[in-house]
Amino acid sequence: MAEAYPWQDSLWQQLAGRAQHAHAYLLHGPAGIGKRALAERLMARLLCQRPTVEGACGECKSCLLLKAGSHPDNYILEPEEADKAIKVDQVRDLVSFVVQTAQMGGRKVVLIEPVESMNINAANALLKSLEEPSGDTVLLLVSHQTSRLLPTIKSRCVQQACPLPSEAMSLAWLASALPDCSEEERIELLTLAAGSPLAAVKLQAQGVREQRALVVEGVKKLLKQQQSPTQLAEEWKTIPMLLLFDWFCDWSSLILRYQLTQDEAGLGLADMRKVIQYLAQKSAQDKVLNIQDWILAQRQKVMSKANLNPALLLEALLVQWVSLPTQK
Ligand SMILES: [Zn+2]
Repeated sequence: MAEAYPWQDSLWQQLAGRAQHAHAYLLHGPAGIGKRALAERLMARLLCQRPTVEGACGECKSCLLLKAGSHPDNYILEPEEADKAIKVDQVRDLVSFVVQTAQMGGRKVVLIEPVESMNINAANALLKSLEEPSGDTVLLLVSHQTSRLLPTIKSRCVQQACPLPSEAMSLAWLASALPDCSEEERIELLTLAAGSPLAAVKLQAQGVREQRALVVEGVKKLLKQQQSPTQLAEEWKTIPMLLLFDWFCDWSSLILRYQLTQDEAGLGLADMRKVIQYLAQKSAQDKVLNIQDWILAQRQKVMSKANLNPALLLEALLVQWVSLPTQK
């Protein structure tokens, strides 16, 4: 059974409580808030032979087949490898599933996640299924980034926004999900996860707080010239590049903001506040802007998985970072 999250209560009522179901739904919102779980819960309810307000019964033949992963009227379309595209051939297989008759006498339900991982050919192949609804098929599209979808896909779905839960609700949930962390650590994780509670749990499992502590320590030593860019690039080689670029990007924004506002409340997480303040006071604004531009451009390359030498790139970043404070 897909987990039901407390912040999805009203969303669930809206979706499951509909008298008549749409042919296609687009569940969209930030990553890490449980959209996939919501879609799976709805999928199970739509397939169940004895559904209740809460969801699927969990006991009928349909529920048992779904649990066993052998329901004939259920189709999940996702990239074959994580972070890769959904291929046009995969969509063609889906299209032939959609035109078949349901084998269990009920609905057919298709779940697609994430929809934005389809290239233009795959998306166009999907459009055909969206344009010519077939019987009782319901398509559940999950998207973390609707700006990357074809407008024609969006317009053919009932759009359901899944907002970020409030900080209070996320922290209450994290208290039971991460009982071994302190409240302060949970706030830190939630901030690092940009407010997404499930992403916060994942970050904790990946040891991100430890990685962050290592990087912050390293940045301080770099500025005190106790460690060189080369040494740090070596020391950080197991830390995901995207994470490092996100943090440095964030820090450069915080420096610029502090230079403009002098607002101590806007200095970000406690671990770097003093460093941000120091760099804001000692660095020329155009240098900070330049480094931010550079970081954003390199971040794009990291995201597109271009052929990069991570150690060299990191070293280049740190060489610029250490030369920021010049107004001594
Ligand atoms: Zn059932």
